[in-house]
Amino acid sequence: MGFDRPGGLAAIVAHPADEGFTCAGALALAGEAGRTTRLLVVTRGEAGNSERKPDPGLTAIRESELVRSAEALGLNEVTLLEGYPDGAVAEQDQDRLTDEIMAWLGNRRPEVLITFGAHGVTGDPDHVATGSAARWAVERLAPEGQAPHAVFVVAPVFGPGSHRFNLSPEEQGATHRVDITAVAARRVAALEAYESQGDTMGALADLRIALDSGKPIYEGYTRVRPEVPAPHPRFDTRLI
Ligand SMILES: [Zn+2]
Repeated sequence: MGFDRPGGLAAIVAHPADEGFTCAGALALAGEAGRTTRLLVVTRGEAGNSERKPDPGLTAIRESELVRSAEALGLNEVTLLEGYPDGAVAEQDQDRLTDEIMAWLGNRRPEVLITFGAHGVTGDPDHVATGSAARWAVERLAPEGQAPHAVFVVAPVFGPGSHRFNLSPEEQGATHRVDITAVAARRVAALEAYESQGDTMGALADLRIALDSGKPIYEGYTRVRPEVPAPHPRFDTRLI
């Protein structure tokens, strides 16, 4: 699918698999509600090994894993950018990255965008650079009236699992708690696609334990554009 179904929900992440442990549920929920869902991935994940060293043999594996994840989540479109090495996004020309994201957003006009916040959940510099470029692209689209209506950053404060990330204040201050229990099996399937990724398998194990407990599964988000007062103690429950 190209530009023929504008609008909907889009996510911009750094690596194949990032969508699995961040916003898989929100994407699947929006898709099941009949909304267009898209994913932009900046790198091909070729350094996704324990040494974080580029391995050309990993490129095709991670791309095929991404395709399987996208199928599990029912995404309408997945785009991989060219020329951004895994592990070195922050060292590339940030204006070029912002321009490419602007063009991608401008052609598709999503109503709602999800990306990484100031610490990129894990502190990975690729995540930080990707989130920063995506948000800068939105600011540059706004004067033309082409910005998404809302921008959210991933705020993983509701689990699953006991792992606690070193989050920035904006990422800790979740404004939205989305109950993804109804589509949790799709998030499981998206994570299962990434057999080459040890970290992803850890997230998958946490998710399975949470599902077995029978409690609701949540994804957390902070709306960063437009900025609004946090609605605690009640969270908003829908992104789109
Ligand atoms: Zn990543």
